[in-house]
Amino acid sequence: MKISNIFLGTTSTKSVLYDHQGHVIASANVGYPLYHDTVTTAEEDPQEIWQAVQATIHQVSAGIATDEIEGVAFSSAMHSLILLDANKQPLTRVITWADNRAAADAATLKAQPLGQQLYEMTGTPIHPMSPLVKLHWFANQQPDLLNQARYVVGIKEYIIYLMTGQLQMDYSMANATGLFNLYNFDWEPAALDYAQVTRAQLPPLVDTDAVINGLTPTAAGELGLRLATKVIMGASDGALSNLGVGADEPGVAAITIGTSGAVRVMTKQPYLDPEGRLFCYYVAPHHWIVGGPINNGGQVFRWVRDELFVTESQVARDHQQDPYDQLTALAATVPVGAHGLLFHPYLSGERAPLWNADARGSLLGVTTTTTKADIARAVLEGIVMNLNTVLQLTTAAEPVHAIRATGGFARSSLWRQILTDVLGQPITIPSSFESSCLAAAVIGLKALGHIDDLNAIHAMIGDTETYEPNAANHQMYHQHQVVFDHVTAQLAPLYHEIATLNR
Ligand code: ADP
Repeated sequence: MKISNIFLGTTSTKSVLYDHQGHVIASANVGYPLYHDTVTTAEEDPQEIWQAVQATIHQVSAGIATDEIEGVAFSSAMHSLILLDANKQPLTRVITWADNRAAADAATLKAQPLGQQLYEMTGTPIHPMSPLVKLHWFANQQPDLLNQARYVVGIKEYIIYLMTGQLQMDYSMANATGLFNLYNFDWEPAALDYAQVTRAQLPPLVDTDAVINGLTPTAAGELGLRLATKVIMGASDGALSNLGVGADEPGVAAITIGTSGAVRVMTKQPYLDPEGRLFCYYVAPHHWIVGGPINNGGQVFRWVRDELFVTESQVARDHQQDPYDQLTALAATVPVGAHGLLFHPYLSGERAPLWNADARGSLLGVTTTTTKADIARAVLEGIVMNLNTVLQLTTAAEPVHAIRATGGFARSSLWRQILTDVLGQPITIPSSFESSCLAAAVIGLKALGHIDDLNAIHAMIGDTETYEPNAANHQMYHQHQVVFDHVTAQLAPLYHEIATLNR
Protein backbone atom coordinates (compact mmCIF):
# COMPACT_ATOMS: atom_id res chain seq x y z
CA MET A 1 0.00 0.00 0.00
CA LYS A 2 1.10 3.55 -0.68
CA ILE A 3 0.39 7.02 0.63
CA SER A 4 0.52 10.29 -1.25
CA ASN A 5 0.95 13.74 0.13
CA ILE A 6 -0.76 16.77 -1.37
CA PHE A 7 1.14 20.02 -0.74
CA LEU A 8 -0.83 23.16 -1.58
CA GLY A 9 1.94 25.71 -2.19
CA THR A 10 1.61 29.38 -3.10
CA THR A 11 2.30 28.91 -6.82
CA SER A 12 2.01 25.14 -7.30
CA THR A 13 0.60 21.94 -5.86
CA LYS A 14 2.93 19.04 -5.38
CA SER A 15 2.10 15.38 -4.77
CA VAL A 16 4.65 12.72 -3.93
CA LEU A 17 3.65 9.05 -3.69
CA TYR A 18 5.54 7.10 -1.03
CA ASP A 19 5.69 3.51 0.14
CA HIS A 20 5.57 2.72 3.86
CA GLN A 21 9.35 3.10 4.17
CA GLY A 22 9.22 6.64 2.77
CA HIS A 23 10.66 5.75 -0.64
CA VAL A 24 9.46 8.02 -3.42
CA ILE A 25 7.45 6.11 -6.03
CA ALA A 26 6.39 9.09 -8.15
CA SER A 27 6.05 12.84 -7.86
CA ALA A 28 4.19 15.57 -9.73
CA ASN A 29 4.05 19.34 -9.58
CA VAL A 30 1.42 21.53 -11.25
CA GLY A 31 1.63 25.32 -11.13
CA TYR A 32 -0.97 28.09 -11.11
CA PRO A 33 -0.83 31.87 -11.16
CA LEU A 34 -0.63 34.15 -8.15
CA TYR A 35 -2.88 37.03 -9.19
CA HIS A 36 -1.71 40.56 -8.41
CA ASP A 37 -4.72 42.58 -9.59
CA THR A 38 -3.43 45.53 -7.58
CA VAL A 39 -0.05 46.22 -6.08
CA THR A 40 -1.23 45.00 -2.67
CA THR A 41 -3.22 41.90 -3.65
CA ALA A 42 -1.88 38.34 -3.99
CA GLU A 43 -4.64 35.83 -4.72
CA GLU A 44 -5.07 32.36 -6.16
CA ASP A 45 -8.08 30.83 -7.90
CA PRO A 46 -9.46 27.96 -5.76
CA GLN A 47 -10.71 26.12 -8.87
CA GLU A 48 -7.24 26.23 -10.43
CA ILE A 49 -5.83 24.72 -7.25
CA TRP A 50 -8.46 21.98 -7.23
CA GLN A 51 -7.57 21.19 -10.84
CA ALA A 52 -3.88 21.08 -9.91
CA VAL A 53 -4.69 18.65 -7.09
CA GLN A 54 -6.54 16.39 -9.52
CA ALA A 55 -3.73 16.60 -12.08
CA THR A 56 -0.96 15.76 -9.60
CA ILE A 57 -2.92 12.81 -8.19
CA HIS A 58 -3.55 11.48 -11.69
CA GLN A 59 0.16 11.82 -12.48
CA VAL A 60 1.47 10.06 -9.37
CA SER A 61 -1.11 7.28 -9.58
CA ALA A 62 -0.62 6.58 -13.30
CA GLY A 63 0.16 2.90 -13.74
CA ILE A 64 -0.73 2.03 -10.13
CA ALA A 65 -3.88 0.15 -9.18
CA THR A 66 -6.21 2.60 -7.37
CA ASP A 67 -6.64 0.24 -4.41
CA GLU A 68 -2.87 0.51 -3.85
CA ILE A 69 -3.33 4.11 -2.64
CA GLU A 70 -4.51 3.87 0.93
CA GLY A 71 -4.58 7.56 1.77
CA VAL A 72 -3.59 11.13 1.02
CA ALA A 73 -2.05 13.45 3.61
CA PHE A 74 -2.15 17.22 3.32
CA SER A 75 0.20 20.10 3.86
CA SER A 76 -0.33 23.68 2.82
CA ALA A 77 1.07 27.19 2.78
CA MET A 78 -0.08 29.07 5.88
CA HIS A 79 -2.36 32.09 6.43
CA SER A 80 -4.72 31.72 3.41
CA LEU A 81 -8.30 32.92 3.60
CA ILE A 82 -11.45 32.10 1.57
CA LEU A 83 -14.96 33.26 2.39
CA LEU A 84 -17.67 30.72 1.52
CA ASP A 85 -21.43 31.22 1.19
CA ALA A 86 -24.11 29.03 2.79
CA ASN A 87 -23.70 26.47 -0.02
CA LYS A 88 -19.95 26.42 0.59
CA GLN A 89 -19.31 28.21 -2.69
CA PRO A 90 -16.35 30.64 -2.66
CA LEU A 91 -17.23 34.33 -2.36
CA THR A 92 -13.57 35.31 -2.73
CA ARG A 93 -10.44 33.95 -4.34
CA VAL A 94 -7.77 32.51 -2.04
CA ILE A 95 -6.24 35.50 -0.29
CA THR A 96 -2.67 34.37 0.34
CA TRP A 97 -0.07 35.18 3.01
CA ALA A 98 1.57 37.51 0.46
CA ASP A 99 -1.51 39.76 0.20
CA ASN A 100 -0.78 43.13 1.76
CA ARG A 101 -4.17 44.82 1.73
CA ALA A 102 -4.45 44.78 5.50
CA ALA A 103 -1.10 46.54 6.10
CA ALA A 104 -2.67 49.58 7.77
CA ASP A 105 -4.91 47.40 9.96
CA ALA A 106 -1.86 45.43 11.07
CA ALA A 107 0.14 48.58 11.86
CA THR A 108 -2.73 50.00 13.94
CA LEU A 109 -3.29 46.77 15.84
CA LYS A 110 0.41 46.36 16.51
CA ALA A 111 0.58 49.83 18.04
CA GLN A 112 -2.12 48.91 20.59
CA PRO A 113 -1.68 46.66 23.65
CA LEU A 114 -4.34 44.38 22.08
CA GLY A 115 -1.82 43.47 19.35
CA GLN A 116 0.70 41.95 21.77
CA GLN A 117 -2.16 40.40 23.83
CA LEU A 118 -3.57 38.63 20.76
CA TYR A 119 -0.08 37.50 19.70
CA GLU A 120 0.55 36.05 23.15
CA MET A 121 -2.69 34.04 22.96
CA THR A 122 -2.38 32.90 19.34
CA GLY A 123 1.33 32.69 18.47
CA THR A 124 0.75 34.42 15.12
CA PRO A 125 2.72 37.66 14.72
CA ILE A 126 0.54 40.69 13.98
CA HIS A 127 1.07 41.21 10.25
CA PRO A 128 -1.08 41.69 7.11
CA MET A 129 -0.37 38.00 6.26
CA SER A 130 -2.54 36.92 9.21
CA PRO A 131 -6.21 35.98 8.50
CA LEU A 132 -7.06 37.73 11.79
CA VAL A 133 -6.02 41.06 10.29
CA LYS A 134 -7.40 40.28 6.82
CA LEU A 135 -10.84 39.63 8.31
CA HIS A 136 -10.66 42.93 10.18
CA TRP A 137 -9.87 44.58 6.83
CA PHE A 138 -12.93 42.88 5.27
CA ALA A 139 -15.14 43.97 8.17
CA ASN A 140 -14.18 47.59 7.50
CA GLN A 141 -13.71 47.66 3.73
CA GLN A 142 -16.19 45.07 2.44
CA PRO A 143 -18.67 44.48 5.29
CA ASP A 144 -21.39 43.22 2.95
CA LEU A 145 -19.13 40.47 1.66
CA LEU A 146 -18.14 39.40 5.16
CA ASN A 147 -21.82 39.40 6.16
CA GLN A 148 -22.59 37.00 3.33
CA ALA A 149 -19.81 34.66 4.44
CA ARG A 150 -21.37 31.69 6.18
CA TYR A 151 -17.96 29.98 6.46
CA VAL A 152 -14.42 31.30 6.85
CA VAL A 153 -11.70 28.83 5.84
CA GLY A 154 -8.31 28.48 4.16
CA ILE A 155 -7.35 26.65 0.99
CA LYS A 156 -6.56 23.32 2.67
CA GLU A 157 -9.96 23.18 4.36
CA TYR A 158 -11.70 24.04 1.09
CA ILE A 159 -9.87 21.36 -0.92
CA ILE A 160 -10.51 18.74 1.78
CA TYR A 161 -14.18 19.79 1.70
CA LEU A 162 -14.29 19.25 -2.07
CA MET A 163 -12.77 15.80 -1.58
CA THR A 164 -14.77 14.58 1.41
CA GLY A 165 -17.76 16.88 1.87
CA GLN A 166 -16.46 17.74 5.35
CA LEU A 167 -15.23 21.08 6.57
CA GLN A 168 -12.56 20.74 9.29
CA MET A 169 -9.38 22.56 10.19
CA ASP A 170 -6.29 21.04 11.79
CA TYR A 171 -4.70 22.71 14.81
CA SER A 172 -1.56 23.79 12.98
CA MET A 173 -3.43 25.57 10.17
CA ALA A 174 -5.76 27.12 12.76
CA ASN A 175 -2.73 28.21 14.74
CA ALA A 176 -1.55 30.30 11.76
CA THR A 177 -4.87 32.16 11.42
CA GLY A 178 -4.28 34.38 14.44
CA LEU A 179 -7.71 33.29 15.74
CA PHE A 180 -6.67 30.15 17.65
CA ASN A 181 -5.79 30.06 21.32
CA LEU A 182 -2.71 27.86 21.59
CA TYR A 183 -3.24 27.12 25.27
CA ASN A 184 -6.77 25.71 25.09
CA PHE A 185 -6.79 24.58 21.44
CA ASP A 186 -9.93 26.51 20.65
CA TRP A 187 -10.95 29.67 18.82
CA GLU A 188 -9.99 32.74 20.87
CA PRO A 189 -13.01 34.99 21.63
CA ALA A 190 -10.90 38.20 21.80
CA ALA A 191 -9.47 37.44 18.35
CA LEU A 192 -12.93 36.63 16.94
CA ASP A 193 -14.18 39.99 18.29
CA TYR A 194 -11.36 41.90 16.63
CA ALA A 195 -11.82 40.01 13.34
CA GLN A 196 -15.62 40.37 13.57
CA VAL A 197 -16.34 36.71 12.89
CA THR A 198 -18.21 34.19 15.01
CA ARG A 199 -17.26 30.70 16.10
CA ALA A 200 -20.13 29.35 13.96
CA GLN A 201 -18.39 30.62 10.82
CA LEU A 202 -15.21 28.70 11.58
CA PRO A 203 -14.63 24.98 10.97
CA PRO A 204 -14.47 22.39 13.77
CA LEU A 205 -10.89 21.82 14.96
CA VAL A 206 -9.08 18.48 14.76
CA ASP A 207 -5.55 17.24 15.36
CA THR A 208 -3.00 16.99 12.54
CA ASP A 209 -3.29 13.19 12.44
CA ALA A 210 -7.10 13.18 12.18
CA VAL A 211 -8.41 10.95 9.41
CA ILE A 212 -11.54 11.42 7.28
CA ASN A 213 -12.68 8.06 5.98
CA GLY A 214 -13.57 8.22 2.35
CA LEU A 215 -14.14 10.54 -0.58
CA THR A 216 -17.39 11.75 -2.07
CA PRO A 217 -18.35 9.77 -5.20
CA THR A 218 -17.82 12.88 -7.33
CA ALA A 219 -14.34 13.53 -5.92
CA ALA A 220 -13.36 9.87 -6.18
CA GLY A 221 -14.31 9.99 -9.87
CA GLU A 222 -12.48 13.27 -10.48
CA LEU A 223 -9.34 12.13 -8.69
CA GLY A 224 -9.36 8.57 -10.02
CA LEU A 225 -9.11 7.24 -6.45
CA ARG A 226 -11.24 4.64 -4.70
CA LEU A 227 -14.13 5.78 -2.49
CA ALA A 228 -12.52 4.36 0.65
CA THR A 229 -9.35 6.47 0.28
CA LYS A 230 -8.44 7.97 3.65
CA VAL A 231 -7.75 11.69 3.93
CA ILE A 232 -5.28 12.68 6.63
CA MET A 233 -5.61 16.31 7.73
CA GLY A 234 -1.84 16.96 8.00
CA ALA A 235 -0.48 20.41 8.81
CA SER A 236 0.96 23.65 7.51
CA ASP A 237 4.19 23.60 5.51
CA GLY A 238 5.88 25.71 8.16
CA ALA A 239 4.89 23.34 10.95
CA LEU A 240 6.13 20.36 8.96
CA SER A 241 9.40 21.82 7.77
CA ASN A 242 11.43 20.83 10.84
CA LEU A 243 10.01 17.33 10.92
CA GLY A 244 10.84 16.96 7.24
CA VAL A 245 14.55 17.65 7.73
CA GLY A 246 14.73 15.56 10.90
CA ALA A 247 14.92 18.64 13.16
CA ASP A 248 12.17 17.18 15.34
CA GLU A 249 14.03 17.08 18.68
CA PRO A 250 13.90 20.08 21.02
CA GLY A 251 16.84 22.39 20.30
CA VAL A 252 17.38 21.29 16.70
CA ALA A 253 16.93 24.29 14.41
CA ALA A 254 15.98 24.19 10.74
CA ILE A 255 17.14 27.04 8.51
CA THR A 256 15.82 27.59 5.01
CA ILE A 257 17.24 29.97 2.42
CA GLY A 258 15.18 29.61 -0.73
CA THR A 259 13.49 32.54 -2.44
CA SER A 260 12.60 33.75 1.04
CA GLY A 261 13.92 32.20 4.24
CA ALA A 262 13.04 31.01 7.73
CA VAL A 263 14.55 29.93 11.01
CA ARG A 264 12.59 27.46 13.12
CA VAL A 265 13.38 25.56 16.27
CA MET A 266 11.36 22.69 17.70
CA THR A 267 10.20 23.03 21.31
CA LYS A 268 8.13 20.87 23.64
CA GLN A 269 5.85 23.70 24.71
CA PRO A 270 4.74 27.07 23.32
CA TYR A 271 7.13 30.03 23.56
CA LEU A 272 6.10 33.63 22.86
CA ASP A 273 8.58 36.43 22.17
CA PRO A 274 8.15 39.43 24.53
CA GLU A 275 8.18 41.73 21.47
CA GLY A 276 6.01 39.55 19.21
CA ARG A 277 8.81 38.86 16.71
CA LEU A 278 8.57 35.04 16.54
CA PHE A 279 5.76 32.73 15.52
CA CYS A 280 4.79 29.75 17.63
CA TYR A 281 2.92 26.98 15.81
CA TYR A 282 1.63 23.57 16.82
CA VAL A 283 2.87 20.48 14.93
CA ALA A 284 1.83 17.43 16.99
CA PRO A 285 1.46 16.66 20.73
CA HIS A 286 4.53 18.12 22.53
CA HIS A 287 5.94 19.40 19.23
CA TRP A 288 5.83 23.15 18.57
CA ILE A 289 7.92 25.27 16.26
CA VAL A 290 9.13 28.71 17.21
CA GLY A 291 10.81 30.91 14.65
CA GLY A 292 10.68 33.69 12.16
CA PRO A 293 9.92 33.99 8.45
CA ILE A 294 12.36 36.11 6.42
CA ASN A 295 11.35 37.90 3.20
CA ASN A 296 14.88 38.52 2.04
CA GLY A 297 16.47 35.17 1.24
CA GLY A 298 17.74 34.06 -2.16
CA GLN A 299 15.56 36.56 -4.01
CA VAL A 300 18.04 39.24 -2.95
CA PHE A 301 20.87 37.34 -4.61
CA ARG A 302 18.66 36.95 -7.67
CA TRP A 303 18.23 40.74 -7.72
CA VAL A 304 22.02 41.16 -7.57
CA ARG A 305 22.39 38.72 -10.47
CA ASP A 306 19.79 40.45 -12.61
CA GLU A 307 20.49 44.11 -11.80
CA LEU A 308 24.20 44.37 -10.95
CA PHE A 309 25.77 41.46 -12.82
CA VAL A 310 23.93 41.58 -16.14
CA THR A 311 27.06 41.22 -18.26
CA GLU A 312 28.63 38.48 -16.12
CA SER A 313 25.35 36.56 -16.09
CA GLN A 314 25.12 36.75 -19.88
CA VAL A 315 28.72 35.52 -20.27
CA ALA A 316 27.90 32.59 -17.97
CA ARG A 317 24.78 31.74 -19.97
CA ASP A 318 26.72 31.94 -23.24
CA HIS A 319 29.03 29.29 -21.80
CA GLN A 320 26.08 27.19 -20.61
CA GLN A 321 26.93 27.95 -16.98
CA ASP A 322 24.62 28.92 -14.16
CA PRO A 323 25.11 32.68 -13.56
CA TYR A 324 24.79 32.06 -9.81
CA ASP A 325 27.91 29.87 -9.99
CA GLN A 326 29.75 32.66 -11.79
CA LEU A 327 28.75 35.14 -9.07
CA THR A 328 29.66 32.92 -6.15
CA ALA A 329 33.03 32.12 -7.81
CA LEU A 330 33.66 35.86 -7.98
CA ALA A 331 32.55 36.34 -4.36
CA ALA A 332 34.93 33.56 -3.32
CA THR A 333 37.90 35.64 -4.55
CA VAL A 334 37.22 38.14 -1.74
CA PRO A 335 38.25 37.51 1.89
CA VAL A 336 35.78 36.91 4.72
CA GLY A 337 33.99 40.15 5.57
CA ALA A 338 34.13 41.58 2.03
CA HIS A 339 36.68 44.26 2.99
CA GLY A 340 34.37 45.73 5.60
CA LEU A 341 31.26 46.01 3.43
CA LEU A 342 28.04 45.56 5.36
CA PHE A 343 24.88 44.70 3.48
CA HIS A 344 21.44 44.87 5.10
CA PRO A 345 19.24 42.82 2.78
CA TYR A 346 15.80 44.38 3.37
CA LEU A 347 14.88 44.84 -0.30
CA SER A 348 11.32 43.55 0.29
CA GLY A 349 10.76 45.16 3.67
CA GLU A 350 11.23 42.51 6.33
CA ARG A 351 9.24 40.18 8.52
CA ALA A 352 11.46 38.60 11.20
CA PRO A 353 13.34 40.07 12.96
CA LEU A 354 12.19 43.65 12.18
CA TRP A 355 8.53 43.17 11.19
CA ASN A 356 8.80 46.42 9.27
CA ALA A 357 7.36 46.67 5.75
CA ASP A 358 9.21 49.98 5.31
CA ALA A 359 12.66 48.45 5.90
CA ARG A 360 15.02 49.02 2.95
CA GLY A 361 18.32 47.50 1.83
CA SER A 362 21.62 49.25 2.40
CA LEU A 363 25.26 48.80 1.56
CA LEU A 364 27.62 50.44 4.05
CA GLY A 365 31.39 50.79 4.12
CA VAL A 366 31.81 51.46 0.39
CA THR A 367 35.20 52.94 -0.66
CA THR A 368 36.92 53.68 -3.96
CA THR A 369 38.56 50.27 -3.71
CA THR A 370 35.24 48.39 -3.38
CA THR A 371 34.71 45.92 -6.23
CA LYS A 372 31.65 44.15 -7.57
CA ALA A 373 33.11 40.95 -6.13
CA ASP A 374 33.07 42.59 -2.68
CA ILE A 375 29.42 43.46 -3.20
CA ALA A 376 28.54 39.90 -4.26
CA ARG A 377 30.19 38.53 -1.12
CA ALA A 378 28.68 41.17 1.17
CA VAL A 379 25.22 40.27 -0.11
CA LEU A 380 25.65 36.55 0.65
CA GLU A 381 27.03 37.44 4.08
CA GLY A 382 24.32 40.04 4.83
CA ILE A 383 21.48 37.61 4.08
CA VAL A 384 23.05 35.14 6.51
CA MET A 385 23.75 37.73 9.23
CA ASN A 386 20.10 38.79 9.17
CA LEU A 387 19.10 35.16 9.54
CA ASN A 388 21.54 34.79 12.42
CA THR A 389 19.75 37.57 14.35
CA VAL A 390 16.52 35.54 14.07
CA LEU A 391 18.32 32.39 15.19
CA GLN A 392 19.59 34.27 18.25
CA LEU A 393 16.00 35.29 19.13
CA THR A 394 14.84 31.67 18.93
CA THR A 395 17.49 30.52 21.40
CA ALA A 396 15.39 32.16 24.12
CA ALA A 397 12.75 29.53 23.34
CA GLU A 398 15.21 26.65 23.31
CA PRO A 399 19.03 26.51 23.34
CA VAL A 400 19.99 25.42 19.83
CA HIS A 401 22.44 22.51 19.76
CA ALA A 402 22.18 21.38 16.14
CA ILE A 403 21.25 23.03 12.85
CA ARG A 404 19.84 21.59 9.64
CA ALA A 405 19.60 23.73 6.52
CA THR A 406 17.76 23.49 3.19
CA GLY A 407 16.95 25.60 0.14
CA GLY A 408 18.53 26.79 -3.09
CA PHE A 409 21.45 28.47 -1.29
CA ALA A 410 22.85 25.00 -0.57
CA ARG A 411 23.82 24.62 -4.24
CA SER A 412 26.72 26.98 -3.51
CA SER A 413 29.65 25.64 -1.47
CA LEU A 414 30.68 29.23 -0.65
CA TRP A 415 27.24 30.13 0.70
CA ARG A 416 27.11 26.91 2.74
CA GLN A 417 30.48 27.83 4.28
CA ILE A 418 29.40 31.42 4.98
CA LEU A 419 26.33 30.11 6.83
CA THR A 420 28.45 27.67 8.83
CA ASP A 421 31.10 30.28 9.67
CA VAL A 422 28.66 33.07 10.59
CA LEU A 423 26.70 30.77 12.91
CA GLY A 424 29.88 29.11 14.19
CA GLN A 425 28.17 25.72 14.42
CA PRO A 426 28.24 22.57 12.28
CA ILE A 427 25.38 22.53 9.77
CA THR A 428 23.80 19.41 8.34
CA ILE A 429 22.20 19.60 4.91
CA PRO A 430 19.91 16.79 3.69
CA SER A 431 20.26 16.02 0.00
CA SER A 432 16.47 15.70 -0.48
CA PHE A 433 14.58 18.98 -0.83
CA GLU A 434 11.06 17.53 -0.53
CA SER A 435 10.99 17.90 3.22
CA SER A 436 7.47 19.08 3.94
CA CYS A 437 5.98 16.52 1.49
CA LEU A 438 7.73 13.68 3.32
CA ALA A 439 6.71 15.06 6.71
CA ALA A 440 3.02 15.12 5.71
CA ALA A 441 3.29 11.54 4.47
CA VAL A 442 4.89 10.51 7.78
CA ILE A 443 2.04 12.11 9.74
CA GLY A 444 -0.23 10.06 7.46
CA LEU A 445 1.70 6.83 8.04
CA LYS A 446 1.41 7.34 11.79
CA ALA A 447 -2.29 8.22 11.56
CA LEU A 448 -2.91 5.02 9.60
CA GLY A 449 -0.95 2.93 12.10
CA HIS A 450 2.02 2.03 9.89
CA ILE A 451 4.60 3.65 12.17
CA ASP A 452 4.51 4.22 15.93
CA ASP A 453 6.46 7.44 16.16
CA LEU A 454 7.08 10.47 13.97
CA ASN A 455 10.82 9.98 14.50
CA ALA A 456 10.63 7.10 11.99
CA ILE A 457 11.29 9.92 9.52
CA HIS A 458 15.01 9.82 10.39
CA ALA A 459 15.41 6.56 8.50
CA MET A 460 13.59 8.05 5.49
CA ILE A 461 15.41 11.34 5.03
CA GLY A 462 18.30 9.83 3.13
CA ASP A 463 21.79 11.23 2.74
CA THR A 464 22.96 14.27 4.66
CA GLU A 465 26.23 16.15 4.66
CA THR A 466 27.69 18.08 7.60
CA TYR A 467 29.84 21.22 7.25
CA GLU A 468 32.17 22.40 10.02
CA PRO A 469 32.84 26.05 10.89
CA ASN A 470 36.27 27.62 10.54
CA ALA A 471 37.12 29.17 13.93
CA ALA A 472 39.09 32.13 12.55
CA ASN A 473 36.34 32.98 10.07
CA HIS A 474 33.73 32.74 12.81
CA GLN A 475 35.72 35.13 14.97
CA MET A 476 35.88 37.61 12.10
CA TYR A 477 32.16 37.25 11.37
CA HIS A 478 31.36 37.71 15.03
CA GLN A 479 32.94 41.19 14.88
CA HIS A 480 30.97 41.97 11.73
CA GLN A 481 27.75 40.72 13.30
CA VAL A 482 28.15 43.13 16.23
CA VAL A 483 28.41 46.09 13.84
CA PHE A 484 25.64 44.66 11.61
CA ASP A 485 23.27 44.49 14.60
CA HIS A 486 24.29 47.96 15.76
CA VAL A 487 23.54 49.43 12.32
CA THR A 488 20.19 47.60 12.23
CA ALA A 489 19.20 49.18 15.54
CA GLN A 490 20.33 52.64 14.37
CA LEU A 491 18.51 52.44 11.03
CA ALA A 492 15.26 50.92 12.30
CA PRO A 493 13.70 54.25 13.32
CA LEU A 494 14.73 55.81 9.98
CA TYR A 495 13.23 53.25 7.61
CA HIS A 496 9.84 54.92 7.53
CA GLU A 497 11.41 58.25 6.53
CA ILE A 498 13.54 56.56 3.88
CA ALA A 499 10.57 54.66 2.46
CA THR A 500 8.51 57.86 2.35
CA LEU A 501 11.04 59.34 -0.11
CA ASN A 502 9.90 56.77 -2.67
CA ARG A 503 6.11 56.78 -2.40
P1 ADP B 1 12.08 28.32 -3.65
O1 ADP B 1 12.20 28.88 -2.26
O2 ADP B 1 11.31 29.27 -4.54
O3 ADP B 1 11.65 26.90 -3.72
P2 ADP B 1 14.91 27.59 -4.04
O4 ADP B 1 14.93 26.88 -2.74
O5 ADP B 1 15.29 26.83 -5.27
O6 ADP B 1 13.57 28.38 -4.32
O7 ADP B 1 15.95 28.83 -3.90
C1 ADP B 1 16.14 29.74 -4.92
C2 ADP B 1 17.32 30.64 -4.53
O8 ADP B 1 18.48 29.83 -4.35
C3 ADP B 1 17.68 31.63 -5.59
O9 ADP B 1 16.96 32.85 -5.47
C4 ADP B 1 19.18 31.85 -5.37
O10 ADP B 1 19.43 32.92 -4.49
C5 ADP B 1 19.64 30.56 -4.72
N1 ADP B 1 20.43 29.73 -5.65
C6 ADP B 1 19.97 28.86 -6.57
N2 ADP B 1 21.00 28.28 -7.22
C7 ADP B 1 22.13 28.79 -6.68
C8 ADP B 1 23.54 28.59 -6.93
N3 ADP B 1 23.98 27.76 -7.85
N4 ADP B 1 24.40 29.33 -6.18
C9 ADP B 1 23.96 30.19 -5.24
N5 ADP B 1 22.66 30.40 -4.98
C10 ADP B 1 21.78 29.73 -5.69
